[in-house]
Amino acid sequence: MIPYEEAIQIVLQNVKPIGEEQVDLFSAGDRILREDIISDIDNPPFDNSAMDGYAVKAADTVNANITQHVILKVKGITAAGGTIEGIEIHYGEAIGITTGAPVPYGADAVLIIENTEKVSDTEIKVLKPVTIGENIRFKGEDLKKGELILSSGTKITPSIIALLATVGRKTMRVSKKPEVGIVATGNELVEPEYIPPAGKIRNCNAYFLYSQIIKEGGVPTYYGIAGDLHGEIEGKISEALSNSDIVITTGGVSVGEFDYVKESFSKLGIDIKFLKVAIKPGKPTVFGVKGDTCIFGLPGNPVSTLVTFNRFVSPCIAKMMGNVKPDKKVIPCILNEDLTIKSDRKQFVRIHIEQKGDTIMARSTGHQGSGRLKSIFDADGIMTASPGEYTITKGTKVIVELL
Ligand code: AMP
Ligand code: MG
Repeated sequence: MIPYEEAIQIVLQNVKPIGEEQVDLFSAGDRILREDIISDIDNPPFDNSAMDGYAVKAADTVNANITQHVILKVKGITAAGGTIEGIEIHYGEAIGITTGAPVPYGADAVLIIENTEKVSDTEIKVLKPVTIGENIRFKGEDLKKGELILSSGTKITPSIIALLATVGRKTMRVSKKPEVGIVATGNELVEPEYIPPAGKIRNCNAYFLYSQIIKEGGVPTYYGIAGDLHGEIEGKISEALSNSDIVITTGGVSVGEFDYVKESFSKLGIDIKFLKVAIKPGKPTVFGVKGDTCIFGLPGNPVSTLVTFNRFVSPCIAKMMGNVKPDKKVIPCILNEDLTIKSDRKQFVRIHIEQKGDTIMARSTGHQGSGRLKSIFDADGIMTASPGEYTITKGTKVIVELL
């Protein structure tokens, strides 16, 4: 049995980066960039108005106040999308301007429409002064041409899509999506569409994994249920191995009479890197490699499957795709109850969080037995507890890693 920290290091050291592909902006969301992105333009590309109003010379407006109104002569209007060729203002003049329209020559501020009053078609009254530069978005103040704006390894969020569009990147290089094969094991399993006969239960792990893999950026393939027979287990794993960057099995890794998965890994030439980790739940987690493929033998209890996926497979997928900042969000919370820990292994407690005023309160999701599905569907995050026998008292500040 090895400590968790050592186990995760072993996983990460054995992950080979996946290949790249070119994608269109429409399908780049949630992918991991594999190139640095440089801005091809200044943004904004030209000085433009941040508001609807009048382009003016700020000096003309300094004396405007409630009692003393300044009158300016309106020379026309510039709208977003238009040009300012040949348009210039002089002292005593203003030009109507819409948000996003280029600022005409001679103007150094934009007076918002609310601070003016129309006197006639060609005159406005200034109700309040503006300062130089007010309500103008200056060329390049956001992004500079040639500036490095995104580095390889960045996850492409919707706001990054907006940035990529702005700097003219209709296509870009991203990591391929890892192919992840799933094999469920257990004589007792039936698929969800069947009513389990005596002694059988429904397979939920394969479906949990399938949806979680999609969420983490992988492409899942389900190879079905293997009964607890060497031939069946090896057949399904070897089929998965030939098509996958990662293979996940569930069940059959404990010390039970029919737990054949570890032996099957060895028979298939998988180089087993660890067989047991000092964690609760998830002690019998197995990890091995064959060629560039990472293989995880996760324990069958659904809670163990969820926790060990989160602890080992999720970082493996992120590393494989070169994600330099996997989005594991960690928040400090206040414990809402006494929490008793009794474990000789590092424990991953499933936590439910709730905002109360300006505090985030945390409680355990109830009975933490690894067969209890209720302790996962209500879980927002995981709290790590050191081994030992102790109670973390209500009101203690704890750190929760969001799922
Ligand atoms: P095992 O790791 O094979 O010893 O299984 C541990 C527990 O998890 C047993 O109670 C199994 O019935 C259950 N189990 C194993 N695989 C699954 C699965 N795919 N879906 C739901 N429960 C499972
Ligand atoms: Mg089993």
